[in-house]
Amino acid sequence: MDITTLSGIGEKRAIALRAAGLNTVYDVINYFPRDYDDRSQIKTIEELVPGAVNTIRGALISEPISVNPSGKRSLTLTKAVIEDVTGSLELVWFNQPYLKKYFRVGRIYSFTGKVKLDFKNRLQMESPDYEPFSENMLSSGRIVPVYTTPKGFSQKTFRALINQALGVCAKAGLSFHDNLPESLRQAYELCNRRDALTNIHYPESDDAFMAARKRLVFEELFFMQMALFALKGSTHLQPGIKMKDTSIAPLPFDLTSAQSRVLEDIKNDYRQGIRMNRLIQGDVGSGKTAVAMMAAYIAINNGNQAAIMAPTEVLAQQHHKDFTKYLSPYGIETVLLTGSLTPKERREALAKIAESPQLMIVGTHALIQPGVEYIKLGLVVTDEQHRFGVNQRFMLTKKGQHLPHTLVMTATPIPRTLALILYGDLDISIIDELPPGRQTIKTYCVDSRYRKRLHEFIRKESQAGKQAYIICPAIEENETSETQLKNVLSYTAELSAALPELSITCLHGKMKPMEKQEIMERFKSGEINALVSTTVIEVGVHAPDATLMIIENAERFGLSQLHQLRGRVGRGTAQSYCVLLTDAKNQITKARMKAMTDTTDGFKLAELDLAQRGAGDFFGTRQHGLPDFAIANLYRDMDILKIAQSAAQDVHSGEIALSKEEGEMVYKKVTLVPIL
Ligand code: ADP
Ligand code: MG
Repeated sequence: MDITTLSGIGEKRAIALRAAGLNTVYDVINYFPRDYDDRSQIKTIEELVPGAVNTIRGALISEPISVNPSGKRSLTLTKAVIEDVTGSLELVWFNQPYLKKYFRVGRIYSFTGKVKLDFKNRLQMESPDYEPFSENMLSSGRIVPVYTTPKGFSQKTFRALINQALGVCAKAGLSFHDNLPESLRQAYELCNRRDALTNIHYPESDDAFMAARKRLVFEELFFMQMALFALKGSTHLQPGIKMKDTSIAPLPFDLTSAQSRVLEDIKNDYRQGIRMNRLIQGDVGSGKTAVAMMAAYIAINNGNQAAIMAPTEVLAQQHHKDFTKYLSPYGIETVLLTGSLTPKERREALAKIAESPQLMIVGTHALIQPGVEYIKLGLVVTDEQHRFGVNQRFMLTKKGQHLPHTLVMTATPIPRTLALILYGDLDISIIDELPPGRQTIKTYCVDSRYRKRLHEFIRKESQAGKQAYIICPAIEENETSETQLKNVLSYTAELSAALPELSITCLHGKMKPMEKQEIMERFKSGEINALVSTTVIEVGVHAPDATLMIIENAERFGLSQLHQLRGRVGRGTAQSYCVLLTDAKNQITKARMKAMTDTTDGFKLAELDLAQRGAGDFFGTRQHGLPDFAIANLYRDMDILKIAQSAAQDVHSGEIALSKEEGEMVYKKVTLVPIL
């Protein structure tokens, strides 16, 4: 039923509703409140105290009057007096003269508003919400919903619209049709959809509200989880390229036991002949790339191509060097495919990819552009997955004639439950150990008064043959209107003036890839002492002699990002330091800085980050793969998420047996859920 079938909705209002995504009556009842106001307690006038917001009930005892206070022509006050059995009270509204005509003397109304003392020390209620008193009031005498209202709708008119839509649906019956099978509702003690929708808008009690919310959150998470299982099933049942010889080529170091464990997982997948679909999660520097190299070596040794896709040009180039160094002694060639190749280089790379069956391919997004044909892709590694959407992962795996094994690597420690959602279609291996000999990075938080001393610190580290990173949130001045933001270009000049004997260079995202690459090389070789940079160096770059990380405007960065940046140092055996510089004094910043100085545990920081910013911000936005939820809140609703996950598991495995109709009902809905 179209929204225009609702009374009071003409074309003009319909446009506003459609702009808010409300096209049908069904959409309207599924538009949930953002908050609630408890107006269930009705006070008497005698009970009112100044400063509090209360709901009262009273009869109008005289015609409302409108006055213009002297000297304020633009201000109209409309006043009315009401009484209940305990006393009388004056009400006042500002610039709403039409109210004079709304009220009828002798009628009883309900009012909700704040009371204060007027200049004669009498109580007065200011701009109260009003409604004729009845059994079924929408804005008082109950827990009242608060909506993010579409343009042109007041809370009151929108509440009335929701109420009307609920009534229409109740009459039609159909729109309350339950999409969760009875058996499931019983097993998980969930109320039916009709009760849930009625109580999510107009809760009869706290308990009814909790039950309604639980049911709707469950529904949302359950169907998402079912969709993920469907996805996982479809990728998992696929046959994969079987690899017989899983011996590896030696590295210059022994694997940590965590690395060995993960490599065993990979070898098992390879041997089974079922397509691998695996996430490797491990803190920065835990040796994920080393594991990927060995996985690639095995794939190539068994007659396949292997590809690794990096999120940035700099990182792709670094991988190209590292893979070449590792694989070339075994006669394996590594080609690079990025957006910055010359046409000739690109043609040559494409030709090799199309012709050489045993090849290591390293690149950026360029790997998944049209026109890249792989002759025999056996393994796809995606580095720093959270930077790519899930769709891109699938695009790459769709290339080539057969389905390659896939490995996804992420250094962002993601809380387990979130990993299940974001990567629900993947098996997960965790590297929870750092290679031996690493020192804990010492972390400090200071304000700008310490900047001079930090310059001395940079000098000292440089004299000892070490290097420093300085991270600024902006590239140049006036990039934003916020003048207090440190920017890379000015800071480079400032630092060069303060430390003339050092080689100081800047690095930022507006530079050409070649230029960035060259600077990173010079930094890694030790030629540059200090690198002033934006967060382009955040991901994966490895300079073992860098021991000092200074982060300017540290309040600008989320915990996970700060942790990632800190991971750029402490990659060798020398003691490393991270200095967070901020003048912000607010509680959130303080809590964040304290977390950073207290722990280096990435998983702990990730949990905190999630708690502070919510799931949406944790991953950036939805383009990083997390669906938008109508009601579920991934942080608050972890408990329901776990239940929904186990329910989906039970249905998927047949533990909870659904009748034929029930099964159809559920799976019909699953295909409708937009998959991440
Ligand atoms: P990640 O990709 O997880 O950030 P890398 O694989 O890049 O980590 O490893 C970081 C550094 O540690 C590299 O220089 C690598 O050669 C080295 N490394 C990896 N594994 C080990 C190990 N088991 N023992 C010693 N050094 C290691
Ligand atoms: Mg890495």
